[in-house]
Amino acid sequence: MYNLKNLLIHAIETVPFYNDLELLNDVNEFYEIFPEIKRNNLSGSETLFLSSKFRIEDLTLHTTSGSTGIPIRCYKSNTDLIRMGRHLWKERNKHGKVNPRDKYVTFFIRRYNKDKSVNNQNVIINKNNLSLNLLDLSLKNIKDYCRAIHFFQPKWIFGPPSALNYISRYILQSNEKYDFSSLKFIELTGEFCLKEQQDYISLAFDTKVTNMYGSKETWLIAYSCPNGHLHLCEDNVYCEINNNNELLLTGLNNYSMPLIKYNIGDSVEWVAETECTFSGRMINILAGRSSSYIRVKGRFVSIAVFFLALNDTHRTFPGAFIQFQIQRTGEENFKFLFIRGKGFKEEALIKYEENIKKELDIQLNFEETDFINLGKNGKLSYFIEIGEK
Ligand SMILES: [Zn+2]
Repeated sequence: MYNLKNLLIHAIETVPFYNDLELLNDVNEFYEIFPEIKRNNLSGSETLFLSSKFRIEDLTLHTTSGSTGIPIRCYKSNTDLIRMGRHLWKERNKHGKVNPRDKYVTFFIRRYNKDKSVNNQNVIINKNNLSLNLLDLSLKNIKDYCRAIHFFQPKWIFGPPSALNYISRYILQSNEKYDFSSLKFIELTGEFCLKEQQDYISLAFDTKVTNMYGSKETWLIAYSCPNGHLHLCEDNVYCEINNNNELLLTGLNNYSMPLIKYNIGDSVEWVAETECTFSGRMINILAGRSSSYIRVKGRFVSIAVFFLALNDTHRTFPGAFIQFQIQRTGEENFKFLFIRGKGFKEEALIKYEENIKKELDIQLNFEETDFINLGKNGKLSYFIEIGEK
């Protein structure tokens, strides 16, 4: 609470957006007076959130759009970055005994140069980093990526579940022999992730898989433990959940650009007290950063409904689906596009439909596929609207 209070005082004293609020002694009451900030409040008004203690030219700028498509400019001082990074590396060290000097693999989205010529490399090695092009997951590239990882001998991999899922499927189905024994763990991030996806990737690479839930704005929010819970890192973010099941974040290490009660746009729920040796309150992510509401027969419904129905289906049919996408194809028509997992049975589709029908009176079609296109940002959108609206 001490860190929280310090941050709130700092915000009122130095941040234009918070100047009108008054200082209070009781930290709970004090926190209460801060308004909730939505992404569209922040977008375009970022400089109102900058602390006068810092000069903008000294700050590092990250831009994020998430799947909501609202661009946000986030500024951080070096001290902020060091303090945020420390919490993240503490987790990585705890789960995989790795440090920033260890060899690792990441994915990149190909950038165009100023002269519009394209860098044709899909595999780039730079010091201790092997970087793979996320936007082209053709079979040829996947083969190249596996070979590159095999020779590079990284300690860990950092990437989105959808891409690693496709690479895993190739590894499990091909006859090639790869040596991934140097791996200590794989950290998944950037997307909503099913337990099924995590297990599948773990099987393919024969290593531990963790789930890091973070944001460009605050970095680490929560990290998975070996028991499959997602524990909040409340040394880095103070969290609450509003009445719409949306996560509100207060970045305890964001001093150059304090964000208080920041609604990141993710639907989450508290997990009831469960015994676990790992510390931190536990949350469940209901729907990724696309927590939009859709209008169905005059009702506004959170798209979390589709995710909850899937979680429930997996309770009866574990491992049924390893990848999915909900496509809205008309006013009341939806398609559940899926890639089957080892635990797939036809009954899982019936169960899923039953679960959906409890909440929504819609027409649901099913389509099996072996590849779901990633979005332009290299991430999989779990809910998309197709055609006329
Ligand atoms: Zn736990």
